Amino acid sequence: MQFQPILEDIVATLQPQLGAAGRVADYIPALARVPAAQFGIALRTCDGQEAAAGDCRVPFSIQSISKLFALTMGMRVMGDALWQRIGREPSGNPFNSLVQLEAEQGTPRNPFINAGAIAVTDRLVSHGDAKAEMLTLLSGLCNEPVHFDEEVAASEAATGFRNIALGNFMKSFGKIDNDVATVLDVYFHHCALAMNCVQLARATGYLCRDGLHPYNGHHLLTERQTRRVNALMLTCGTYDAAGEFAFLIGLPCKSGVGGGIVAVVPDHLSLCVWSPALDATGNSLLGMKALELFTAKTGLSVF
Ligand code: GLU
Repeated sequence: MQFQPILEDIVATLQPQLGAAGRVADYIPALARVPAAQFGIALRTCDGQEAAAGDCRVPFSIQSISKLFALTMGMRVMGDALWQRIGREPSGNPFNSLVQLEAEQGTPRNPFINAGAIAVTDRLVSHGDAKAEMLTLLSGLCNEPVHFDEEVAASEAATGFRNIALGNFMKSFGKIDNDVATVLDVYFHHCALAMNCVQLARATGYLCRDGLHPYNGHHLLTERQTRRVNALMLTCGTYDAAGEFAFLIGLPCKSGVGGGIVAVVPDHLSLCVWSPALDATGNSLLGMKALELFTAKTGLSVF
């Protein structure tokens, strides 16, 4: 299939809607000042074909998309033991909710809500230098250097009262081993990674190749682990809109409040869309429309 004309067609279709609806995340200044009228899309197939269009090389804050890579690192170092502290059910509550944590004795519902990602990060902190390891992992996956946006990381820390509460609450149940501030510093840096669509389409390449690294030929995850990550993306990857995503798009996806969404077509390709204006569920409004157009035009779906 020739993907470049399809992506260009999607950019042209969405052009008139750029910045017309939705709201850019505004809980920190560095995200609030991102111009809404931007849209990028990129993909990479399992056999290395790349296509990209629009603002595909503009770096953005990957935010909760980082939870995908933190989970991958956690599965690599801990295997199935990771699931002793983290569930696998959709939460049905906002990404930063505290309520279920009390009923469930400090065990987060899944690794893609904030509490779950903080718990995964705690496991990574026990294992090594989780900031440096994340940069090494992502730079290798997209074959070019990746960095943290330190301004975003500092703002996350200065305003992250709810995440601090989540960390301390889990610690009170004995479910966080390390110093909460240390764990959150890593979590905030992971959220503050700056990447573009081309890089993210490459970086998620292992998820469409049964865990095989897109460049070095080694398995990053086993085939079984990769299926599980994709299953979690489908059921928990897009805040409270996972049902809607499955219904309208039919692909495992992970979104972030920076306006990025990554999607996986197992055995075919991985792709990333980005547009900063969000809908009421916190997902990129045009990003979601673009994924709908993409699956309609290509007929690709996990169903
Ligand atoms: N840094 C955000 C937080 O922890 C992540 C938001 C998101 O992308 O879901 O609140």
